[in-house]
Amino acid sequence: MQEKNQKSIKKVVILGMGGTIAGLAENTTDNVNYQAGQVSVADLLAGLGAGFVESLQNNKIELVTEQVAQLDSKDMSFVVWQQLLQRLDFYNTQPDVMGIVITHGTDTLEETAYFLHRTISANKPIVLTCAMRPASAMNPDGPQNMRDAILMARHSSANCVMVVCDGAVHSAQDVQKDHPYRTNAFSSRDNGVLAWIEEGHIRQLRAWPASQAILYRATQKILDANSHMHWPRVEMVMNYAACDGAVVQALLAQKMDLAGLIVAGTGNGTLSNDLALQLDLAITQGIRVGLCSRCALGQVVGHQKQAEYEVIELSFTKARVELILQILNA
Ligand code: ASP
Repeated sequence: MQEKNQKSIKKVVILGMGGTIAGLAENTTDNVNYQAGQVSVADLLAGLGAGFVESLQNNKIELVTEQVAQLDSKDMSFVVWQQLLQRLDFYNTQPDVMGIVITHGTDTLEETAYFLHRTISANKPIVLTCAMRPASAMNPDGPQNMRDAILMARHSSANCVMVVCDGAVHSAQDVQKDHPYRTNAFSSRDNGVLAWIEEGHIRQLRAWPASQAILYRATQKILDANSHMHWPRVEMVMNYAACDGAVVQALLAQKMDLAGLIVAGTGNGTLSNDLALQLDLAITQGIRVGLCSRCALGQVVGHQKQAEYEVIELSFTKARVELILQILNA
């Protein structure tokens, strides 16, 4: 009997990556000057509240924590992405794991979410969450975000990579950090949120997205490689008033191992003549050039004139992740 009970216990795994959610300031009223990535993911559980944890136990759900990294996500690296993917790949196939929560900094959250969306075929909910106020704040937002993320991780039909913040559920494809300070810092750009979480209930608005983890060679390379794996260098440039292409010129002159460039064009992907000239030069040197728009919303539409560039229908930051993965997949 004892053994049967043991077997029916399900787990929600919480992987800690650092961020403001694990941040500490000297003063409880200071929401800005703090050190991100200070509190261990195991200690973050204390903020969830005894009642919440007890109700999970009553439902035979155990919370399992693992510290994958402990950093300010402005310092996110390829090695950390690799470690995260390797741990997710493990837990994704464990039958007793209902879902996975990842506590992460907000600054590069959308890039990590998109990276995972393209590399892991989720068998269960994979939910990134975060905070805009440190754990030491008088009113931290992290505990509620974690409770909401755990709720999503138990929601068996949502087998995809998502972001939960401030009561909103965003898809990895759409999520974007829009604000540097407010607790509702994220949007889903043009498409709108997948769901709202209200008092422990999920009000779903859109279908859970299907997996787009089809860059199999890239995924396998990342999973199999050691930490010295070579990742393609893809840099980001932009068009703006009086842009003379000097940044691209300098990059080409560096003779660094440049594999790709993402260019955020003005408006519908337009480029100054001088910038276009430098980008054409880059293409002749075998550098892949991906084009997107610098506008906060939307994507480049009808791109006949930019036929020499690869139009990537994503935000500036995600377009870079996409090109890196495509180059790895080649
Ligand atoms: N700089 C922090 C980070 O991204 C900000 C945050 O977590 O909100 O880790």
